[in-house]
Amino acid sequence: MKNVQQLFWQNYCRCCNQVISEDDKHFCSDCWSQIGFCFVDSFCRRCGREISPFGQLPQGCAGCLNENFHFDSIACAGVYKPPLSSLIVRFKFADRTHLLPVLADFARNAVYKADFFQSADYIVPVPQHWRRRFQRGFNQSALIAKSLRLGDARFNTDVVKIRHTKDQTALTFAARKRNLRGAFAVRKGHNFKGKNVCLVDDVKTTGATLDECAKVLKDVGAGKVFAFVLAVAGQKE
Ligand SMILES: [Zn+2]
Ligand SMILES: [Zn+2]
Repeated sequence: MKNVQQLFWQNYCRCCNQVISEDDKHFCSDCWSQIGFCFVDSFCRRCGREISPFGQLPQGCAGCLNENFHFDSIACAGVYKPPLSSLIVRFKFADRTHLLPVLADFARNAVYKADFFQSADYIVPVPQHWRRRFQRGFNQSALIAKSLRLGDARFNTDVVKIRHTKDQTALTFAARKRNLRGAFAVRKGHNFKGKNVCLVDDVKTTGATLDECAKVLKDVGAGKVFAFVLAVAGQKE
């Protein structure tokens, strides 16, 4: 016998909005198969791009041989293409309430594959400037970071964004690096010295933001800095 709540409860696909059965989680089977193509089984531990299990070289992959990062290792759930990319965009701009549980599930299922799973002391979201947070009302990276479990690592917000930066969408890695210089800092009384930190962001595009945050952490004496993102963009199809 269904209870009253279940009678009125309509479960719908978070992707295409059609009604799905109570037993389906988040998506209809069509959308599950589409989103399955976005998840990666093997990725470059240096840049996060999807690569074949044999594509990992000691210095990275073919895609990142000429890139330099301050973070030591990265893990991701998938590649930034539809429908995962549209879910992330909707999460940020339209429907946080319904999409956070979906994306948090993706993140939790993926983070076990990270080689730093047991090594982090702190989980730190990539911060937003207060002006952006005021506009949007929340920091999407913090919501994802809070939902993660990484061994005994604790959630920490002692990396802050102290300068508002212009939109980076059209900028190259070098231009993004210039745009971000001096934009991040750590709070007074931080405890990062000698500690391993896992930075969390929704999307890695060029990696400039993660790189700048990692640099700030290394500058104050952090040990290893790792990164976890939901999706990596810039994947060659
Ligand atoms: Zn669907
Ligand atoms: Zn790589």
